[in-house]
Amino acid sequence: HQRGDFQRLVRAGVNRLRIPDDFPAPVDAVQELVEDFGLRGALADGLKDIRDFERLLTRIEVGTANARDLVALRLSLACLPGIRETLAGVRAQLLRETTERVMTFDEVTELLARAIVDEPGISLREGGIIKDGYDAELDEYRRIAHDSKSMLQEIEEREKQETGIKSLKIGYNKVFGYYIEVRNSGADLVPDRYIRKQTLANAERYITEELKEFETKILGAQEKIVNIEYNLFTEVRETIKAHLTEIQQTAHEIALVDVLASLAEAASTYNYVRPQMRTDGVIDIKDGRHPLVERILTRDLFVPNDAHLDHQDCEIMLITGPNMAGKSTYMRQVALLTLMAQIGSFIPAREASISPVDRIFTRIGASDDLVSGQSTFMVEMNEVAQILKYATKDSLVILDEIGRGTSTFDGMSIARAVIEHIEKKVHAKTLFATHYHELTDLEDDKIKNFCVAVKERGNQVAFLRRIVPGAADKSYGIHVARLAGLPKTVTKRAEALLAALEAKQEKVQAAETDGREETAAPPTQIDAALGMGSLFGSTLREALCSLDIMTMTPLEAMNELYRLQNQAKGEAGKA
Ligand code: ATP
Repeated sequence: HQRGDFQRLVRAGVNRLRIPDDFPAPVDAVQELVEDFGLRGALADGLKDIRDFERLLTRIEVGTANARDLVALRLSLACLPGIRETLAGVRAQLLRETTERVMTFDEVTELLARAIVDEPGISLREGGIIKDGYDAELDEYRRIAHDSKSMLQEIEEREKQETGIKSLKIGYNKVFGYYIEVRNSGADLVPDRYIRKQTLANAERYITEELKEFETKILGAQEKIVNIEYNLFTEVRETIKAHLTEIQQTAHEIALVDVLASLAEAASTYNYVRPQMRTDGVIDIKDGRHPLVERILTRDLFVPNDAHLDHQDCEIMLITGPNMAGKSTYMRQVALLTLMAQIGSFIPAREASISPVDRIFTRIGASDDLVSGQSTFMVEMNEVAQILKYATKDSLVILDEIGRGTSTFDGMSIARAVIEHIEKKVHAKTLFATHYHELTDLEDDKIKNFCVAVKERGNQVAFLRRIVPGAADKSYGIHVARLAGLPKTVTKRAEALLAALEAKQEKVQAAETDGREETAAPPTQIDAALGMGSLFGSTLREALCSLDIMTMTPLEAMNELYRLQNQAKGEAGKA
């Protein structure tokens, strides 16, 4: 969704669908269709000729449906008896109830078959849409129009003989109507009763009294035909309109059957399993796969992964690992499988038991909304703010890289604060991928570290795509940059810079450790993670720690920052 939509949806809470307790489980229907190959095949055949029902019905409702739309409607309606028959003996409650609600519309189908030709044009104003035999008056005018051809031939033959002009022929154009054309070679033989109408380079065109009368009759007939056809067509369309609500209901049921059949087809083709549903808040997936990524991998095999989330030991999975390791894929996979299970689908896994969630929140990827004045980072923060505001204990939250769009300390602090907030206030099951290895010290009874396994051999790195417990200690960003084709000079320089930075950090950490041994006050978690214990005095630190950043407006944040800076300047004697 666009960000605006996202916020609107969340505010309106429309995805908090209330499903009645007695709603029959869709997964039973899917299972029956998975197990009954014949039924699934017959259903696919039956559904094949159903066109875009909903669109057709809308066009009929607003009066924009043309003759082709009505043919499509007839073809769709004609499938209904077959589908009902195919579903006659089904066992799953949802399929049974749905089948009962599928109505057939024999009268409408018969009317359409009788009235509308099989392959009409798009225009309603050119005739050729109503079948012969449907309306007596129309048939009569058609006969006149049809006979006109032979009548014209008759006139042409007669004129040829009477005048002796061999090249004489009768034609028609929109501006001049019917005319007799005589090439200049026959000009001497043109009789006086011919009235000149138009002169061409090597021919003259004439009209006669007889031809004029003929023209009035024929053109009148043609116009009549078009008008009658148009009126008959709108009559048919109005008749159908009277059945629209019922047809719409049936279209809705057919859509449900279509979805169930498609889910079953995917389950059977791609080897999905039926997930068990539970209500204790646990999500447990064994050997789960990403349904799309596993399809598009051509060279490598997809590596399945487990996932276990609960509210006791593993509410938040903190996933570190190199770039390109598969963190995003894994997190989306867990969200997708949960969603699939909840809609009643089978899922790509060896086995799974899943508790339903009230919503799935995601913060993924980088995008901006410059038109409405939102930078990439602002969009990111906006989404995080929405998530923290609306997520509940029953939600599933996917956070892929929070705080990457700002400076390291800023970003890391925001990421840490967000995790702490989720753990203490929201309690949602959360998957959090990050490159800030410093965050891994957050591990406690509810937050657990995971990483993506990597095998290093010399300076070669192999991504194993396995999610395993524990924290990653390296990013391999430069390795990925090399794979992506950055110039060698750039990657070499980056390696040298990295080595220098790491050496410097080690020195600072060593110095800090010495310093701390002398002071009595123990470092806070933040200090240890950020290595900035010496930067702030304790009052400042406390003031900073007590800020509830996610609930502050930018203006409040600015004011607070201004106040803290003044305080810091005062403490540093620079005021
Ligand atoms: P980054 O940190 O750079 O965003 P990432 O860790 O999020 O990287 P993904 O984008 O999830 O990595 O995965 C990178 C690629 O690895 C995918 O496009 C996919 O081709 C492959 N991949 C991911 N997971 C698996 C898997 N389980 N089995 C096989 N291939 C996988």
